[in-house]
Parts: sequence; structure tokens; C-alpha cells
Amino acid sequence: MMRFEGGTENKQPILVDTHAHICDHAFDQDRQEVINRAQEAGVAAIVMVGETLEDARRNLELAGQYPVLKPAAGLYPEFADMEEAERLSGFIRQHAARFYAIGEVGLDFWLAQEEEAREVQRLVFRKFIELAEGLDLPLNVHSRSAGRQAVALLLEQGAKRVQMHAFDGRYSAALPAVEAGFFFSVPPSLVRSRQKQKLVGLLPLSCLLVESDSPVLGPDVGQRNEPANVVIAVKAIAEIKDIAVDAVLAAVRENTRRLYGDL
Ligand SMILES: [Zn+2]
Repeated sequence: MMRFEGGTENKQPILVDTHAHICDHAFDQDRQEVINRAQEAGVAAIVMVGETLEDARRNLELAGQYPVLKPAAGLYPEFADMEEAERLSGFIRQHAARFYAIGEVGLDFWLAQEEEAREVQRLVFRKFIELAEGLDLPLNVHSRSAGRQAVALLLEQGAKRVQMHAFDGRYSAALPAVEAGFFFSVPPSLVRSRQKQKLVGLLPLSCLLVESDSPVLGPDVGQRNEPANVVIAVKAIAEIKDIAVDAVLAAVRENTRRLYGDL
């Protein structure tokens, strides 16, 4: 288990994993242990995103069992469909007081190569941006091979509380989002991604959050990732920016509070 050095027991870092799929079946056998390890590593809250209506239901159920889990709901771009978006947004409205974010929603132009499928993704994404604004909830945004387009659409819709998760674009594509006050969450795969290292080097510390994207985007390819690993992302950010781990922790904590309030 990775630990922070030099801290005493009561100086345990308070971290938030701002994007994880804890409802994933990969955690069915040992969810409690995974949560325990996260808490031992200093993770005080986990924003649990969803990809489907079924995930949204499951997330509410899990949050009832484990208070450290903060449920979100969204329709993953792979499943973009207007009727399903309608059903899911109805469910979210019905339980709005229990959700902490709308996500994971966004654009995935790697999955959707055809213009027709991309247009459906845009329509669904717009619908959830409007829903998030209406409910005053943060958006937890996926944008694979569509970073520039996702940012443009968010700005066009006037979105304000936004987290770009595991952003795979260049700094130039991220810049309008930085200027708009959006946040960027960094996963542990930072240690093995040249693109992410470059991006984190250029992004201001004031817009960075950490996430695990469990069970994927861990430090090792092919190994199940878990929320305790956000400490790996924190350490890697400190190394890339050549600043103290404590400074990263303080900044990330403040940024998380600015987007999510007190979790
Ligand atoms: Zn995800």
C-alpha cells in the first residue's frame, strides 16, 4: 500500500476520488475491502459515476450501504439514445437530491466514427448539460477523441460546473475550458501516459482534481484499478510540476471543494 511520508496519524491527507465506477462487477467480490483500502490511503469520498439507468439505480443503492460513496448518474456516449436519455433524466429528477453529479456523459468520437452516431451523442450530451444546469449539479465529462468538440459544446451551452475526466486532448484543446473555470481530473495512468504528463505539466494547478476511473486507468496496464490509487496520481503531479506533495494535496482539496462543495 502506498503511503504518504512524513505525516502523522491526524495529518492523514483528505482526498476525493472524483470519478470511479464502483458499481462495476469487477468489485462485486470485494467492494468493502476496496473501500477500506481507499479510506486507509486517505480517500474521504468517492464520486461514483454511472453509464446507464441500471448503474444510476445501483449507485443509489450502494451509497445507502457505504456513505463514502457519492452517487452520480449519466448515460455513457456508447449508449447514446434519446429515449434512454429521457428515461434516465426522469429518474435523476425524481431522485435529484441524492445525486452529487451528472456523469459520466460526453462525447466519444473514437467509438462513433459516423456523423450520424456523433450527432446522437451531441443531442444526448446537450440534454444532460441542460439537466445539470437545471439541477445545479457538476458535470462529469468523458471526451475521447473529442476533447475540443466537447469543450466547445459545453461552452456553447453555458455550462459552468464542469469536470473534464481523463482528458485525452492537447493543451490547446483544454485551454478554453481552463479559461472558463472547468476542472480536469487526473487518473493514476498518468505514470504511463506521455500525453497526460505533457498536459498536466501545462495545466495550472488550480484546475486539477484526481480520479481513479476504477476499474480502468490504473498505473499498470491490464490490472484492476481502485480508488486508493489516486495517491499515485497526486505523487505524479507533484513530480511533474516539481512541487511538494503537500502543495498538490492542498490544491486538489481546494479545487474539489470549489466544484463539489463539502462532500
Ligand atoms: Zn469513467
